[in-house]
Amino acid sequence: MFVQELVLRQRTEILNALCSSGSAEHLEQVLDILLSQGELTWEDYQNIQVSGRALHCNARKLLDLVYIKGEDTCGLFFAAFKRVLPDAKGVGTSSSGCSSTLEEKEEHQSTCTETLLTQRPSLVEKLRGCIDGALEDLVTSGHFTSADCCEVQLPIHTPCQQARRLLDHVRSKGESAAKVVLQFIQHKQEPVSPLSQEKLTPPKEVLKYQKKLSSSISAQSCFLSTYGGTSHMSLDDIYTDGQLELAHNCVDVNGPLGLEDIVGAVGTVNKEADTVLVSGEAGGGKSTLLQRLHLLWARGAALQDFLLLFPFSCRRLNSEQRELSLQELLFQHCCWPDRQQEEIFQFILDHPHLILFTFDGLDELKQSFSDEHRLCCPTQRAPVHILLFNLIQGSLMKGVRKVVTSRPEAVGPLFKKHLCKEVLLKGFSPSGIDCFVRKHHSDAHVAAKVLESLRTNTALLGLCHSPVLCWIVSQCHKELLGCGEGSLQTITDVYLMILQHFFQHQSSLKNTTGLCWLQQHLQTVLHLGKLAFDGIGATCYIFSGTDLETCGVTEKDICMGFLMQSKDISTHAEGYEFLHLTMQCFFAALYIVLSDNTDRSTIPKLFETQKIKEAGQSSRCFIACLPSTDQPQRPSGGETTAAETPNRQITATFVSGLLSQRHRNLWLHCCPSAVMEKRVRQVVKCLSKGMQKHFKSIPQPVEGEKKSMHAMPGFVWLIKCIYEMQEDRVAKDAMSKLEVDHLKLTYCNIGPVECTALAYVLQHLRNPVGLQLDNNSVGDVGVEQLLPCMHICNSLYLRNNNITDEGIRKLLAKTIQCEHFKKIALFNNNLTDACTQHFSRLLKIKQNFVSLRLGNNNLTEKGAKQLAEGLKCNHSLEYLGLWGNKIGDAGAEALATALENSKTLVWLSLVDNGVGSAGACALSNIIKNCTSLEDLWLTENHITRSGVESLIQAMQHNTHVKSVWLRNNDLSLEEVEEMKQRESRLIF
Ligand code: ADP
Repeated sequence: MFVQELVLRQRTEILNALCSSGSAEHLEQVLDILLSQGELTWEDYQNIQVSGRALHCNARKLLDLVYIKGEDTCGLFFAAFKRVLPDAKGVGTSSSGCSSTLEEKEEHQSTCTETLLTQRPSLVEKLRGCIDGALEDLVTSGHFTSADCCEVQLPIHTPCQQARRLLDHVRSKGESAAKVVLQFIQHKQEPVSPLSQEKLTPPKEVLKYQKKLSSSISAQSCFLSTYGGTSHMSLDDIYTDGQLELAHNCVDVNGPLGLEDIVGAVGTVNKEADTVLVSGEAGGGKSTLLQRLHLLWARGAALQDFLLLFPFSCRRLNSEQRELSLQELLFQHCCWPDRQQEEIFQFILDHPHLILFTFDGLDELKQSFSDEHRLCCPTQRAPVHILLFNLIQGSLMKGVRKVVTSRPEAVGPLFKKHLCKEVLLKGFSPSGIDCFVRKHHSDAHVAAKVLESLRTNTALLGLCHSPVLCWIVSQCHKELLGCGEGSLQTITDVYLMILQHFFQHQSSLKNTTGLCWLQQHLQTVLHLGKLAFDGIGATCYIFSGTDLETCGVTEKDICMGFLMQSKDISTHAEGYEFLHLTMQCFFAALYIVLSDNTDRSTIPKLFETQKIKEAGQSSRCFIACLPSTDQPQRPSGGETTAAETPNRQITATFVSGLLSQRHRNLWLHCCPSAVMEKRVRQVVKCLSKGMQKHFKSIPQPVEGEKKSMHAMPGFVWLIKCIYEMQEDRVAKDAMSKLEVDHLKLTYCNIGPVECTALAYVLQHLRNPVGLQLDNNSVGDVGVEQLLPCMHICNSLYLRNNNITDEGIRKLLAKTIQCEHFKKIALFNNNLTDACTQHFSRLLKIKQNFVSLRLGNNNLTEKGAKQLAEGLKCNHSLEYLGLWGNKIGDAGAEALATALENSKTLVWLSLVDNGVGSAGACALSNIIKNCTSLEDLWLTENHITRSGVESLIQAMQHNTHVKSVWLRNNDLSLEEVEEMKQRESRLIF
């Protein structure tokens, strides 16, 4: 097909690829290339790039023009398109003639103006980080006026767009202006850091302000707030690194991410955006991580590319009722400059790349993210959330780096569009737990004892991956050591432990009443419970004196330590907040369970399953839970926050746990048992109904395929609620209605805690299932948690889950005894040769095992030899995948010897394993002797002609083999052609 025709046929796909992100960047990059190639004239460009016209219209204009210009221009258009969007699907084809190549034009053109055109793509790239400097030179040389500069630097432009506007302006100013720009670029130093790049000495007042700002940040961040109620713990003493991961797979990242990588360029997926999202569960350590970054910056120990750092807490921004300008927001909420506010603010505006903003807890903001109200003017006043949203989008102060933290459920695609990257904070690693406990207990003896007791209770150890639970467990170590093995299992157990701990340690009252601890403190629980419950309904996390009074919270209640004084630097008003958001949810749950003031619909509304929606459409359930007289003021416009659903879910999980049979003795004298029974029945019914709703959504299988269920949002949460209840009959009942062959829970944020709950519930399934948990954070601890449900598992998919040899050892020790267990996929974990002895044993013993996939791990020749030992004695394996290991020729030879007489092997992959011709010759024996083999994958190895000859010979005697894949081996084009002729089943 001619390329000109392709431009017509693929018009929709091309337009989509160029415009779907909403940013003009892709289109402008294509235009840059076509201009530089001389395929578009300057007039063409101006006709296409009409500012103010919709992006789609400009893109259509380009396609029209390219089409009119004919075959050659269309070819170059496709080449430019592919350079800009190499991964775009459905655009261009290999045979389309898109092979037109883009010429690199000579650097030395006859005039500077021409050079600006022919070098345009690279000039944009070079100028984007130093627009200020180029403008300064143009102004000094008299070519630009300040109005020209303003036009170039309009805050709605991205840095690349500013660079293009600068080039466009320069063109209109003539040859000598073009010369100034080229000279500027030539002299530009290689950038080291923004500060040194500009050899900038900030004005004295700015430096003074920086000093004041950093000392205030240092003072605010040196202690950890959860310890406020009990003792002061310095962040330096207790801070333990959490696990950081990029949300998107990224090739250029080796090893774990460090703190500074959050702000750095690594893993950037959208260069035009300046906002980084750190997402993680409640209690996962997001605020603490920001606190650490703040402290390190304030001390000059990190992030020194930034001259000023402005930390914001969305929780505190909620209480800002006034409309503010950006200047007021910065100075009133972070640090007030003693003098020359205007100059300092101007410096901030002029040097966005030297400024860092952090916004903690976007999920706690009353308003959900929206990009409806655009604001570009830094002096215009607006409600704080509008300022915040415009900063995040970059319409205000483009170029300032922003780090935002949030729970994952609370941010939608609309927000994610403005992110340069997302980093996941996944709590503590096993060694992190160890480290934290040792830091928490100065007495090494106690630390060792706590760790020992954690090791004997793996459910509890799983919970400790969440830093807030690790903190609670360490805080209550006496209770922990005092209770019997395994008695603490659920999150509710852990929170009840801290409740008891605080009551018994903070209260000066001696219990002479004979009442149990809860009875004795029931009033406090109810007061704080009401405060928490109302607060969650109203997205309120900081409470005023009036709020406390309304709920009857007394001085004595405050002294118990669950509330801490809020450091509201904006209003200086005294406020209180719960030690942690999860603690507020726990008290709300206590209120729901114990109070006689909630109405009958509270529990059903709490358990409603619904998807989280963006911008003012999310549920209003909590409000509806409250008796109408108690309903607090909603944020204006009826907007609700995306935080509501996660908070409601955490609260519901606690309600399930508190109503568990195991805890009912505790409530005995606090609430009439008939009321309690009724609430239990309500919860059980809600869980059962919620589950059924999920099961109903399972589609009927296509003929010949298995019935499969892909977990919808909320499924894992319901499973966790059932686990909290710890009542077998509830789990059994839920699972009795689930009839699927395959349960898919990929990308569901499943860590060790979720694994415990899943295993508890799934073990009651009636028929064996395939369990697909790819792309989660199961880890070795999670694997151990899954063991109780392995007997109902016929296949287990754990690709990309951070599992090591130790996890495999435990898993296989169990599954070897499970009759149904037949398939395992462990692509992309941390496995080495040390795990192969366990697989070998499994293969020897389980003569119904069918599929073993170990791709992209670290297996070598030694591992392959171990596996071969097991394979020799196995008579059932059909699929063996070892793609992306390093088994080499010797490994391939060992496998070949073990498999050559197999009667079951259907598929073998040794792609990318450093196999040469010796290995291929050995593998020929499998083809010769094994009559079941259908596909052999040897792509990306070092096989030469002699190896392929041997494969061809073997294939002459075998009609079963369908294909042998040999792409990317050491063969010349002629050899490939010749061999293709000789054996059509060879695929090159
Ligand atoms: P999030 O903001 O994700 O809800 P927080 O940062 O408030 O979580 O963490 C809750 C508690 O867990 C903290 O108050 C602290 O006690 C503990 N914690 C969290 N992260 C760390 C860490 N990196 N090192 C030490 N303790 C931590």
